[in-house]
Amino acid sequence: MSRIRQQNVTAAQWSSNGEALGALDLTQPENNLFGANVFSVAVQRERLPGDVFEKLQATLRGGEPLDASLADAVAEAMKEWALEKGATHYTHMFQPLTGSTAEKHDSFFEPAGEGGTLAGFSGKELIQGEPDASSFPTGGIRATFEARGYTAWDPTSPAFILENPNGTLLCIPTAFASWTGEALDAKIPLLRSMDALSRSAVKALRLLGDEETQRVFTTVGPEQEYFLIDEQYFYERPDLIATGRTLFGAKPPKGHELDDHYFGSIPERVLAFMMESELEMRKLGIPVKTRHNEVAPAQYEIAPIFESSNVGSDHQQLLMQTLENVARRYGFVCLLHEKPFAGVNGSGKHNNWSMGTDAGSNLLNPGDTPADNIHFLFFCAAVIQAVNKHQGLLRASVANIGQDHRLGANEAPPAIISIFLGAELEKVFEAIASGEGDPNTPASFLHLGTTVLPPLPMDGGDRNRTSPFAFTGNKFEFRALGSSMSLAFPNTVLNTIAAEAIDDLADKLEAKLSGGAGMPEAVMEIVKDSYLANKAVCFSGDNYSEEWHAEAEQRGLKNLKTTPDALPEVLSDSTVAAFEEYNVLSKRELESRYEVWVEQYAIRANIEAEESYAIAQTMILPAGLRQLALIGEAGVSALEGEVRELVDELVGGLSTLKDANDYPDMEGMDWAVYARDRQLAAMADVREAADKLEKVVADDLWPLPKYEEMLFIK
Ligand code: ADP
Ligand code: MG
Repeated sequence: MSRIRQQNVTAAQWSSNGEALGALDLTQPENNLFGANVFSVAVQRERLPGDVFEKLQATLRGGEPLDASLADAVAEAMKEWALEKGATHYTHMFQPLTGSTAEKHDSFFEPAGEGGTLAGFSGKELIQGEPDASSFPTGGIRATFEARGYTAWDPTSPAFILENPNGTLLCIPTAFASWTGEALDAKIPLLRSMDALSRSAVKALRLLGDEETQRVFTTVGPEQEYFLIDEQYFYERPDLIATGRTLFGAKPPKGHELDDHYFGSIPERVLAFMMESELEMRKLGIPVKTRHNEVAPAQYEIAPIFESSNVGSDHQQLLMQTLENVARRYGFVCLLHEKPFAGVNGSGKHNNWSMGTDAGSNLLNPGDTPADNIHFLFFCAAVIQAVNKHQGLLRASVANIGQDHRLGANEAPPAIISIFLGAELEKVFEAIASGEGDPNTPASFLHLGTTVLPPLPMDGGDRNRTSPFAFTGNKFEFRALGSSMSLAFPNTVLNTIAAEAIDDLADKLEAKLSGGAGMPEAVMEIVKDSYLANKAVCFSGDNYSEEWHAEAEQRGLKNLKTTPDALPEVLSDSTVAAFEEYNVLSKRELESRYEVWVEQYAIRANIEAEESYAIAQTMILPAGLRQLALIGEAGVSALEGEVRELVDELVGGLSTLKDANDYPDMEGMDWAVYARDRQLAAMADVREAADKLEKVVADDLWPLPKYEEMLFIK
């Protein structure tokens, strides 16, 4: 369907509230609007009674449970603020196990006498809501008849106002638990993991001589990739509508990749969309910073500045929602799928992760003083140990059906988890491990056990884009997340496994210190032992290469290629032990997640297979038959052979796919493995024939918009 007929939208038509945006002089600082719709600390200070404000802040700083007596006062202030901003309703917003965001709206207003209404919102309503838990997947924790679930206010993630052309809504970030207290969401384990990491890190810092730090926070700075396509193409592609990705489509001719895209200027309509999205995000307090074109045509990236893991994770959900909403105002659809177009780069989400103290120091920053460096090496060694021990779980934390087209496909990191330390840091660890410096290492490294460490110069510019887990100067960058993913679980995993490793190293340090060892020497010995035991996971070469796959296997690293291969790691002994020990998720809670994720994979694979059959049978096959008829009419029999062969191939593939799609009821992993090995495999054959047909069928007979139409927005 080569009808290049992109919407000819003019600037005035672009945005439903384009006028409002145009009227705002964004060069004026007062129109920056950062946090304008957030019940922020500043708003709380202004609106809460002094003692209530102080108590609330103390709660937030200390990570202590909230004093329920504060709730009424906070609810009253929040309501007044929301009403002034035009809110009529409020919602407890939460993240069920689907990874998306859920909300149920309640009106502030209740009928009062004489036909009037009264706006009410109590502390109880702020603290707790009661949505129907059985409407969300619980992996067997809740049966339909045990519907009761609770949402609980999370005061550490600020409430905000969501605007709609027809009104506004007060959104209260909440956690979601079952009546029996099991976590049914992504936030509860994330908060628990942050507590766990804080406890372990503070304990270790005490041993390392830090008497001040009361709390350690983990931070996340995500980088989000996405595609934009014209809305009309989206509606002409049943596969995009049903599955978020194209199930058919021949690669565009070579050369298009060189379209100056990556370094090129951003098309005006796209930039207008970005600016409006960013304005919306600023109002919500999301600190967006960077925007640019990405490698593939029609692919872009947006990156906020890092925040605490919990707030950053909530903001990431809002960011994805905002991109999707605002795109529609510009005649675009924003595709967050990991692989919308086969043969074209997919979309990931880099997860920059670090740990910082309440005094503001970053524990993964090498720093200028020997003491800072001792801390740094200790925590860095703990991260290496954690990643090595739980490599399978980390892989599982980024598993979904979309990712199976990306990880290991020469564009994203492989399915093998390894760490890139960078030349400088690797040299330091190697020197510590061998007790000898190489010729380029400063002389004072030579007797690390007995001398103080010099400053560690870290080259922030040293990059290895192929590594799934890279040290980047003052943080680790977990690069294997998929673009559609919530940040919550991967960060829950990072925090939990880091807490465990920090405790392990801290116990060893304590033993050495009480055995009379001196401070830098004791830490250096521990760092050395841990690094030597775990260095198999460190790799600085090309992760895309064949040789690495062979070498990784020799090193005994896991290579879990597909989602069904990876998910059992969620229930491995080492996962259950760590998650139970740190009270992040019980075995039952882990089992529920495993069940939900396995089922989601199977359901999505099944939808893809059904959709693939429907499109190939009712749209593509008829196009092939018409082409044959056309050739017959023209009587050019020399042209017939190739088309007939491809049509036969397609018909054969369709018959196999039809059989594969007709299967008895199955459950759990059996179902997922069946879907992968039978349905997705049969789909691949159907696609191969269809994509070849696309190249020989008359353009005006082809029923789907082609890649080259969809991918070149102007
Ligand atoms: P790139 O990886 O594309 O080179 P940058 O180096 O600019 O990008 O940074 C990427 C991300 O790292 C940004 O979102 C930034 O906010 C985040 N970041 C920086 N410091 C930290 C930190 N201490 N914790 C978590 N994320 C951080
Ligand atoms: Mg990055």
